[in-house]
Order: sequence, then C-alpha cells, then structure tokens
Amino acid sequence: MINNYIFNEYEKRFEPKETTCAYCEESQIKNMKDTHFVALYVTDDRTNLIVYRSVKYSTLLIGIPRCASCREIHDKSVVKSRLITWMIVPVLMGLLFYYISVLGVFLFIAGFFAIVTGGFYGSHKLTQFFVAKENIYNLQDGTDNDRVIQNLILDGWSLNQPSA
Ligand SMILES: [Zn+2]
Repeated sequence: MINNYIFNEYEKRFEPKETTCAYCEESQIKNMKDTHFVALYVTDDRTNLIVYRSVKYSTLLIGIPRCASCREIHDKSVVKSRLITWMIVPVLMGLLFYYISVLGVFLFIAGFFAIVTGGFYGSHKLTQFFVAKENIYNLQDGTDNDRVIQNLILDGWSLNQPSA
C-alpha cells in the first residue's frame, strides 16, 4: 500500500521518495527536514491496520514532500496570523469587560465564547489567506490532495488522535 515511501526506522515515519514539492508543485526537495509529516491514528485499537509488510501500527507519520520555500511560507503565515490574532483578541476582550454592566451576564458569556472561537477560527483562516497569497497549497490542501493519506483514511485511519 505504501510504495513510494522509505520507512525510517529511527524516526518511525514514512519518508516520501517523491522529490517534487507537493505544495508548489515546482521545486525539488533538497532536505528531508522540510517535509511536512502528517500523523494518522487508528481509532479502533483492535484493528491496528497492517500498512507496511507485516508490521502493525496504531500511529503513523506520513511525509508530504515540501521544499524549503514552502516550509518557510507555511511557518511564517502561522506566526503572522497568530500575531494579528493576539493583537485583536485582547482588544475585543477589553471592550467586553468594559461593557459588562451594559451587556449583562448572558451576553457577556456569549461574547466571551464568540471571541475565543472567533480567535481560533480567524487565526486559522488568516493563515490560509497568507499561504494562498503566495500561490501554494496550504497544509490542509496538502493532506487533502495526498492519495496515500486519503486511502489510509478510507481504510479506517484518522487524522484526529482518538481520545482515551
Ligand atoms: Zn514548494
């Protein structure tokens, strides 16, 4: 099932043999450290799936080939959007506390959760916006476009860590 990968015994991960970056579809990979690894989990412990010869796994790391430039764009976009979020959220929280007597408890609590949720969501969207501006795929696209990862998901693997 996993043909185009080399299993790195030491790091316990599948490293792609593909050398073209999956995010810009142009650059050649020069260093494995730029590769983006996606963790996959089996949700049901009893059915640890066999993916590589006869070895069983309940957690897998699958590498998506990424060039140094795309890695930098991904990393910087996250930093930039977090910075913006960290500037906006405290201002909104400040306003919320300032108007607490006007709003009342219910609206205050609703507002509080709206800001927290909006902060997480907004930061995520902002990251995608910055990445899109550079005309490359974002991390989510990379995972969605990866045939091996999508096949594993169809086989019962999950991108979310199963809760104990
Ligand atoms: Zn690239």
